[in-house]
Amino acid sequence: MPKPTKTELTKYRRILKQQLATLKGDVGSMRDEALRASDQDASVDHLADQGTDNYDQGFMLGLIENEEETIKLIEEAIDRIDGEGDWSFGQCPQCIEAAEVAAAKPGKKKAGKKAEAWIPKARLEYLPWARYCVQHQETEERNRESA
Ligand SMILES: [Zn+2]
Repeated sequence: MPKPTKTELTKYRRILKQQLATLKGDVGSMRDEALRASDQDASVDHLADQGTDNYDQGFMLGLIENEEETIKLIEEAIDRIDGEGDWSFGQCPQCIEAAEVAAAKPGKKKAGKKAEAWIPKARLEYLPWARYCVQHQETEERNRESA
């Protein structure tokens, strides 16, 4: 998989910035709404009758949590584009790790340069803030579910 070009990085950065602005706007207004809803539920006696509202509020707070998670991922991706991340934008750190482990095995010819593992462009077009390739994303999610 080829490394993203400078033009592509600029494009991804622009997309990520837009998504970040949209999400931040969403989270702000959703939080306002959720907090307004909780102000109205001040009395505990009242809460029993408010099952549906509480469910809605929980649902909304769940959405906010997801969006905040996404915002974090987007901010990290922008850092990676700017060279301030933990690894290069567009690479899967898990693939790099696996490649380095394989290269370190005895009997293997020592790799002279740093391992590279670029995430397929189609995936970055769809999900520019992706941290991993599809395969490692699935592994990561399975690990999180069982944790
Ligand atoms: Zn990977």
